[in-house]
Amino acid sequence: MGKIQELSERLANQIAAGEVVERPASVVKELVENAIDAKASQIDILIEEAGLKKIQIVDNGEGISQDDVENAFKRHATSKIHNRDDLFRIRTLGFRGEALPSIASVSELTLETATADEPQGSYLFLKGGKIEEHRATALRTGTKITVENLFFNTPARLKYVKSLQTELSNIGDIVNRMALSHPNIAFRLVHDGHKMMTTSGSGDLKQTVAGIYGVATAKKMLKVEANDLDFTLQGYISLPEVTRASRNYLSVIINGRYIKNYALNKAIIQGYQSKLMVGRFPIAVLEITMDPLLVDVNVHPTKQEVRLSKEKELMDLISRAIAESLRQINLIPDVGENP
Ligand code: ADP
Ligand code: MG
Repeated sequence: MGKIQELSERLANQIAAGEVVERPASVVKELVENAIDAKASQIDILIEEAGLKKIQIVDNGEGISQDDVENAFKRHATSKIHNRDDLFRIRTLGFRGEALPSIASVSELTLETATADEPQGSYLFLKGGKIEEHRATALRTGTKITVENLFFNTPARLKYVKSLQTELSNIGDIVNRMALSHPNIAFRLVHDGHKMMTTSGSGDLKQTVAGIYGVATAKKMLKVEANDLDFTLQGYISLPEVTRASRNYLSVIINGRYIKNYALNKAIIQGYQSKLMVGRFPIAVLEITMDPLLVDVNVHPTKQEVRLSKEKELMDLISRAIAESLRQINLIPDVGENP
């Protein structure tokens, strides 16, 4: 008999979890993305002990129908794409069908979900990826997912997790970016019973920025707007004197997805020309809309890195738009701290 065997589905999921579920913040990110894809208008994120004890996400989205609940935990099972064409026109945040099976394989996961058009919802409990309980339940439309004892069966990963403070600040950071990417969704982040952040979901980006960075900071931000044939850009950037010590306050959002892209961050900074002090960085939130055909999000399992077909053009547009906004303030003598 040959030596090569196919891995069991559970083992394959645990291996995938190594990439998709690096730390508690990755669980939060994947579950919130699912809530956004389900068209929720309210998303509550309740965390205990920086996510290691408990992560609970409650949304008022479409829910999962009774026939689909078990499938949601199968590897590469998704309701979001169906064929090759869809892969190149992705409008949802998820599409790989990996998050739920991966997260479930390294935790104890409870799913409660109901759709608007079925009389009953579903309750599902999995431990280490194995379904231990599945029954019907009454619930309003939406989904509640509770992840407990994360990494209980992957001791190496548990050791890799940093201090609770670091993990919590990672969670705060990712939730902030999701909220900035979706001003029309009301977010609430609660840690060990303390409210860490809320946004109103009014749809107004400036209000959302104020909810996250504070009203005083938001007042010192300028609107940026630009477009060309391929891209529409809008957002807010801080005045040159309002800076931070790291690039962490730069958020570039492409088609509703917060992405990490060194070149685009650099374009923001270039837009300030020589107005920033050395080693200081502005605060910026830029929402960019483009044809999904121009952006490949299928580069990395976490989908935060993307490949842009017209990156250089977009960089130019960003730098020019920012330079133009900053030029405007110099025309108004009363703004800023200039003598
Ligand atoms: P993906 O998001 O890539 O499709 P996931 O493993 O994250 O894969 O989720 C699998 C499927 O479960 C989704 O395609 C969706 O149909 C369903 N699902 C997951 N979370 C939710 C939710 N909060 N509300 C509604 N449906 C959900
Ligand atoms: Mg998903």
